[in-house]
Amino acid sequence: MTTHITTKEYRRRLAAAEAAAKAQGVDALLFTPGADLMYLCGYEAVPLERLTCLMITPEGPAAIIVPELEVLAAEASPVAALGIQIVPWSETASPYRTLAKRLKKANKVAVAPQMWASHVFALQEQLRVARFRSDDIVADLRMRKSKVEIAALVEAGEAIDRVHAQVPALLRPGRTEREVGADIAALILSEGHATVDFVIVASGPNGASPHHEVSERVIEEGDPVVVDIGGTMPSGYCSDCTRTYAVGHPPAEFREAYAVLKAAQRAAVDHVRPGVTCESVDAAARDVMAAAGLGSAFMHRTGHGIGMSTHEEPYIVAGNTTVVEPGFAFSIEPGFYLPGKFGARIEDIVVATDSGAVSCNNQSHDLVVVDL
Ligand code: ZN
Ligand code: ZN
Repeated sequence: MTTHITTKEYRRRLAAAEAAAKAQGVDALLFTPGADLMYLCGYEAVPLERLTCLMITPEGPAAIIVPELEVLAAEASPVAALGIQIVPWSETASPYRTLAKRLKKANKVAVAPQMWASHVFALQEQLRVARFRSDDIVADLRMRKSKVEIAALVEAGEAIDRVHAQVPALLRPGRTEREVGADIAALILSEGHATVDFVIVASGPNGASPHHEVSERVIEEGDPVVVDIGGTMPSGYCSDCTRTYAVGHPPAEFREAYAVLKAAQRAAVDHVRPGVTCESVDAAARDVMAAAGLGSAFMHRTGHGIGMSTHEEPYIVAGNTTVVEPGFAFSIEPGFYLPGKFGARIEDIVVATDSGAVSCNNQSHDLVVVDL
């Protein structure tokens, strides 16, 4: 079963964005291709130098400016059924002027944070008196997942869990990280994702680099291996899950640190409930690591929100006093990184509910020792 976002759901999102713009006195919200555009109207346009831009104003129905050669693609997307007016611009015209004509009276304009600077500058040139800001209205909407979004994240979690279940069979001394990574990428697709977003296979000392991808390093007996993988499902929602494996028997020092990590991850998951702050979830994991002398080995935040982007609000980090609400979905992924030696991370995506965290990932947290 593939989760499908209905026209009704897109209408709800568009109406919520309009209402928030009105409440905040924003005259226009502008979205070029990216996750915000996908979230609002399901149009998966490629970000290019030719301007495609959805325009939401509190007064009228939404409109989308598209290059003439992409009109058919826009019509084939949910845009048509949503009653969004498609405004084509021809190859030699200025789309910025077309947009500016429609926004003549706009004073406050909020643009998608991922809009290219070239588009923003060209628009500012046309709308000289308007004040521009980076939009945070849609990030705020995206942070609170609806039922269908939670179902899509659960589905993504199940798909990546099925991949992790097959990883031990791929890890053998003598294979390179790249070879294992290629096998994992194929599994990410065969288990139901539409795209592979990232594959980290960090063996031995490479595990000490949290964002290592793959290399030609040959896996050796006794290596811990950090495997952090994710993709995007046909629904548009992302998976992201880390497990740490050991190929044969790892050093005792590693096993001891891993036991602490497992307790830290558990403590943060158990801490999640409506009313706690994002920074307190981070502290729940960090305190356990610090008490065992691993505080400085855990140098990144505990997690990030996830949905139609792998990284989005809310960030689970010291300083973020945002209060957790039911429907927030984010990763809990503490780790330890000891340069020259090894590293480890355990990562699950959880959804906050009234009764605590529900995990989208359910593979065991125990260190998986691959018997040789
Ligand atoms: Zn990850
Ligand atoms: Zn993550």
